[in-house]
Amino acid sequence: MTLSPTSSLFGQFAGMDQSERLRHLSGIGNDRELDLHLELFLDPLLPLDMGEDPIHAQAYELGVELAELSVALLESNELRRAHRREVRRVAEEDEPFALVLVGKHLDASQGNVLLLVGMSKANHWADNYAEKIIREKGDKELYVCASGITPSGTVHIGNFREIITVELVVRALRDRGKKVRFIYSWDDYDVFRKVPGNMPNQEMLESYLRQPITLTPDPSGVEESYARRNEKEIEELLPIVGVNPEYIYQAERYRSASYAEGIRRALENRERLREILSEHREKPLSPEWWPISVFCASCNRDTTEITDWDGQNTVAYTCSACGNEERLDLTDTGAVKLFWRVDWPMRWAYEQVDFEPAGKDHHSEGGSFTTARPIVREIYEYTPPTTFQYDFVRIKGRGGKISSSSGEVVSLGDVLEIYQPELVRYLFASTRPNTEFAISFDLDVIKLYEDYDRCERIYYGKESVSESRAEKERRIYELSQVDGVPESMPTQISFRHLCSLIQIQDGNIEGMIESLDIRTDEEDLSRLRTRARCAWNWTRGFAPESFRFALRARGSEPLELSPGEHRAIGLLRGEIEERLDTHDERSLSEAIYTLAGEAEMEPKAFFKLVYRVLIEKEMGPRLAGFLLTIGKKRALEILGSC
Ligand SMILES: [Zn+2]
Repeated sequence: MTLSPTSSLFGQFAGMDQSERLRHLSGIGNDRELDLHLELFLDPLLPLDMGEDPIHAQAYELGVELAELSVALLESNELRRAHRREVRRVAEEDEPFALVLVGKHLDASQGNVLLLVGMSKANHWADNYAEKIIREKGDKELYVCASGITPSGTVHIGNFREIITVELVVRALRDRGKKVRFIYSWDDYDVFRKVPGNMPNQEMLESYLRQPITLTPDPSGVEESYARRNEKEIEELLPIVGVNPEYIYQAERYRSASYAEGIRRALENRERLREILSEHREKPLSPEWWPISVFCASCNRDTTEITDWDGQNTVAYTCSACGNEERLDLTDTGAVKLFWRVDWPMRWAYEQVDFEPAGKDHHSEGGSFTTARPIVREIYEYTPPTTFQYDFVRIKGRGGKISSSSGEVVSLGDVLEIYQPELVRYLFASTRPNTEFAISFDLDVIKLYEDYDRCERIYYGKESVSESRAEKERRIYELSQVDGVPESMPTQISFRHLCSLIQIQDGNIEGMIESLDIRTDEEDLSRLRTRARCAWNWTRGFAPESFRFALRARGSEPLELSPGEHRAIGLLRGEIEERLDTHDERSLSEAIYTLAGEAEMEPKAFFKLVYRVLIEKEMGPRLAGFLLTIGKKRALEILGSC
């Protein structure tokens, strides 16, 4: 790849000498820690082929997608010994080529700093990864993209990040005309280790510890197992946000002995596996270590010890919990399971996986991804999948951190209470997967809906921005749609306004839609209903107090008003009666100030009075707009009932 001469940034760099470039870069990086005296090499016109040399490979590993990497600098031949990595986006996102500080490698022992700087094309990250998969795996008939999790508790929104990340890349591949198999693996043959706090029937659950979660009963007695309960919860929600993977149940695979060959290979390579895994452990694995565990046939627990392997297909074990001793045939038992670190690479080969991202924990140095790579290469003779690391999701304005074992979880279902499905996709599609971000339940909700609506207007050409920005927003919009982009722009009613509308109707969505009297198709109406339901849920559960109101009900007790206050309300009624239809928000607002003057009241006191009569509060939504939204008939009714 060569660099585009059209980028203004390149032009800017081309005219600088090295020290100027350095100053410029360090200014953008805004990082005083940088050891600036180190020699800088910067040649933006040097065409480089990505992915070949170690620097570029590392840039990818850092999870920053670079269409062009123009610059690599400095003074360290000790790349692999980098002790710390930082990734930061440093420049204008609006530029067609944004300047990105890809990484800063600090080698503490040598005092070396390596700075990688790249030009990121405005391509969407999902498209960049799709390209990367095709480049790394070659032109294939079928690409297999994988995701998976242990259903050991409620699948929370942090886990969902992996699913949606794969989904977006799958879509980007399909948009390139590629055939894709999207598999979602339920690791439901894992052992039940800890009872999450949010589950009912804790004591019963505890009696199943050490057994496979697929044999643990559903504590609420509805589903066939504890695992199935957790699986079903999210399987039912995923289609709502346009995610439809092929589910693979590992308990089924193991119990039908599908992995007999893979298990035997692990046993044959026991020594080598022990070496690979021990490299990343403080204390090496003992010579007694086996790559498998066995669920006791008599008590179902994994409290067993392997006593023999015949070099072929049979293994013997004893159970320390119940004393059972037995010899099993791999080709017809479901009781033998590979340990996670071997299980994962074995399945990459089994399913021929081309792409699978993973969270920080797996991607850390010595994490399961690090060890899975050599294992899949050497033992299962398969090339590891293209990958990247996705970051955590925080929750804002709701309280509680997310973790399935603590039990304080925020699930996809919780998020869908507040965000319509397109918004949920948008949150993830508009954020790079390697950036930590927060899903907000507080006032930010309004801002996020506004951002989405803006993105939508840009897509349909109703709002103009620079072409590069538009290109970026258009792609985000496409990826945010559950199935396909609507032919014409959906009816936009801002979330903020909907919050007022729906409260005026006291949560009656159909009544609200009727009052709007809009002519549109069923699909559009259905989106509007969903958004209205989200607005209602938000105002009831999460909105600040100042956002919440209920119109004073018909037939409620008259308020105690002074004669002056009665007169003021009378003036407002007159204005509404005679002229509301002729007003827009601005003219009505001016009229209200005039009325306050006529009533000989401070505007502030006048507003307070009107809010008291309308909603029995001292403040509320902006008054003029509010009165217009309530409408003449209803406003007169309420104002007349004091
Ligand atoms: Zn037993």
